[in-house]
Amino acid sequence: MGTHRRLVLVPALLVLVHASTLQLTRPVPLAPAPPALRPAPTTTPEQLLADRGLAVPVKGVPRHRLKDTFDDGRGKGRKHKAIDIMAAWGTPVVAADDGRIEKISRNRGGGLSLYQVDSSGRFVYYYAHLAGYADGLREGQDVRRGDVIGYVGTTGNAPESAPHLHFAVMLLKGEKRWWGGEVVNPYAALRDAS
Ligand SMILES: [Zn+2]
Repeated sequence: MGTHRRLVLVPALLVLVHASTLQLTRPVPLAPAPPALRPAPTTTPEQLLADRGLAVPVKGVPRHRLKDTFDDGRGKGRKHKAIDIMAAWGTPVVAADDGRIEKISRNRGGGLSLYQVDSSGRFVYYYAHLAGYADGLREGQDVRRGDVIGYVGTTGNAPESAPHLHFAVMLLKGEKRWWGGEVVNPYAALRDAS
């Protein structure tokens, strides 16, 4: 009886050892299988802009007082594609975001104006109808969100009776330059930033 049992046990042990050897040589999965491919979430330019946490670019204007004038007509089928922030003449205009002053410009429509590129190099901010610029402001200067860069005025084609900041935002498409890009409505990003 005892001898018979031992004869059965030995082959059984051999099978166990063999099986554990197999276990060790089997490749160990390094990571769980990747999830099924799903379409990348679509981020709109407006959402990207909201992530910047913009300051209202006119000092003392509360967010709830902003008006969405982006789609207003501007004659000959043109649209405004910017928002106007009404304020008293001479009210400080502040940088809406961290970035660099790319271009200080004077043009017929915008009057005294300037272009700022944000610190991510993605957005261009255009400030127009300024009464003047902050002392010593120069192209290439780095500015922080909230820094005074100019003053509200009526230069260019703004009515003298309605001083305001014309504020436009463009999303750059790869090229690092201060003109062109896709125009983005900044209203929601300004209204909802905290
Ligand atoms: Zn405007």
